[in-house]
Amino acid sequence: MASPTYSIVVPVFNEAESLPELHRRLTTVMEKLGEPWELILVNDGSSDASPTVMRDLAARDPHVRVLRFARNFGHQIAVTAGLDASKGRAVIVIDADLQDPPEVIPDLVAKWKEGFELVYGVRRGREGETWFKKTSASIFYRLIFRITDVRIPLDTGDFRLLDRKVVDVLGRMRERHRFLRGMGAWVGFRQIGVPYDRQARFAGETKYPFRKMMRLALNAVTSFSHFPLQIATFLGFLCAGLSAAAILTVVILRLSGNQAFFGQATTLIAVLFLGGIQLISLGLLGEYLGRVYDEVKGRPLYILRRGPDDPPIFSTRSSRKR
Ligand code: UDP
Ligand code: MG
Repeated sequence: MASPTYSIVVPVFNEAESLPELHRRLTTVMEKLGEPWELILVNDGSSDASPTVMRDLAARDPHVRVLRFARNFGHQIAVTAGLDASKGRAVIVIDADLQDPPEVIPDLVAKWKEGFELVYGVRRGREGETWFKKTSASIFYRLIFRITDVRIPLDTGDFRLLDRKVVDVLGRMRERHRFLRGMGAWVGFRQIGVPYDRQARFAGETKYPFRKMMRLALNAVTSFSHFPLQIATFLGFLCAGLSAAAILTVVILRLSGNQAFFGQATTLIAVLFLGGIQLISLGLLGEYLGRVYDEVKGRPLYILRRGPDDPPIFSTRSSRKR
């Protein structure tokens, strides 16, 4: 197939039930656009029937290319692999669970045709998500906005269209602890948001449990801000200031003949307070140091079992050896 105009990148982690419907809806939308397109499905180490479903889709439809990871590397890495493999002049990243409706793609494309190089979906409403998820997401986005140096737009997800230029730049940023939304904002170019209503999941459950969400949030903060490190400095000044005031108070009280400070408890509390602050600061330092260590190791971001251009493994000819 000649180089397509559009590449659609879909990270897939145990989404067997959604995939056929996703493929059907994407096909309808893309055929209407009437330009060559490809669909890159990145199997992020699924343990359900997703690999079989993807293989069948690829066998039926020449638009579909499948990438297989050797294990689960996580959503952000899966999207990165898809971007790396994409050939289109515009790349659309969309979740497999149909929370981001494929029908919004023509709106993204329209903005791209107007000359915007990064068009991101802005969530107007969120259906079928728990109160906890909505609130934590809202706090998270606002916190990031506050403490980081890059202007990551509020309430955006990874549903977006990237021009080839942006994809190429992102492809050169090989940092391991990735927060693609932030990286997208960091690179600049002409950007714009398109509002859309986020739907409920088509099938299955969220693949982002609390643990993964926390990790993503930490990656976001540490990738784009030194604020946590500065907290240590701030606490240091705070403690020094407090103790200076305390020393002065004690001296004055003593000179005026008052014997108010002679408890062991006072000493113990002061020591524990300082100890706590020191441990927290060490932890913050460690968080950054660990990330430096991971970067220095320079391991590949992901390991492919099979690339999108490898010959398909068809199950139709059962006599053929794999
Ligand atoms: N996903 C992935 N690897 C993971 C977790 C998720 O590729 O380790 C994919 C998942 O299949 C989906 C997308 O990332 O296509 C977004 O995940 P999910 O819908 O579970 O996140 P939520 O919408 O709940 O934030
Ligand atoms: Mg989802």
